Amino acid sequence: MLRQHSGEALCRRCFVRSVERTVFKTIRRERLFAPEDKVMIALSGGKDSVALTHILSVMGKAHGKELVALTIDEGISGYREEGLEISRKICRDLGVEHRTATFKEFYGYTLEEICALAKEKASPLLGCTFCGILRRRLLNDAALEMGATKVATGHNLDDEAQTVLINILRGDVDRLARLAAKPSVLRQGFVPRVKPLRYVPEREIAVYVYLKGYPLYERECPYVRASLRDEVRDMLNLLESRHPGTKFSVVGGSNRIFEMLKGSLAESSIRRCVRCGSPTGREVCRMCEVLSLLGIDKKGCAPAPDE
Ligand code: SF4
Repeated sequence: MLRQHSGEALCRRCFVRSVERTVFKTIRRERLFAPEDKVMIALSGGKDSVALTHILSVMGKAHGKELVALTIDEGISGYREEGLEISRKICRDLGVEHRTATFKEFYGYTLEEICALAKEKASPLLGCTFCGILRRRLLNDAALEMGATKVATGHNLDDEAQTVLINILRGDVDRLARLAAKPSVLRQGFVPRVKPLRYVPEREIAVYVYLKGYPLYERECPYVRASLRDEVRDMLNLLESRHPGTKFSVVGGSNRIFEMLKGSLAESSIRRCVRCGSPTGREVCRMCEVLSLLGIDKKGCAPAPDE
């Protein structure tokens, strides 16, 4: 592996060690875990979450950390089954407890049914918007139910650099600052999320997973649509090929912005959703908002007022 950004040329063994060292260093430097943490890994079966599960299971064995992996089944036929199968097998092989949570059980609808309802109601929202909002909420509620104190996700350097630029392009300074927030300063009411792979480039994760002998699951979701993120990804890849190290600079810059802004991150802006009671920065949380657009009343939530 030739790393353009650093000029290092690494053999297979040194490359694998170097990726793991980067992750362990991130965990230590950013104090991602406390000794008593119970960590829930968001495991989709894709390369990033597979690499994360492997590395955290090594760490868990060395430090006696309690781990559980959760795979969310949104209900997308022909797409999620393979990821679920890979996730179960990996957890079995690594000795990590594995659980599954489904949209159908939690919301009463699969993503396919939600998208069909959205089409019926001529909603302009895309499948990915529903999926992202509902998945985030399910992940948080599942973590609370399991007594997890951290949720670890497989976001890599490329994901992080793209998110920084997207937030800049949208002028969303608050989100930009929160992206680099340490778990201890995240908002109350949410299980803090940590991203141990945020300094590992996507390409290196793919190579790491391949060298470790795991399957690369690259099936495309039928709901994926061209988005701003795709354009930002292409732009960043072009810049990285011309100016190696660009992605590291973008993420490093967002860390510095967080340091400057952290005093003004409004802890007090957290409220309780008037319908479901969950912590949110708004009167009605995003989950309740999108469900009410579709006329779905989730069990335990106050009904939406008549329009
Ligand atoms: Fe969900 Fe969109 Fe990802 Fe498909 S592509 S799993 S709809 S976020």
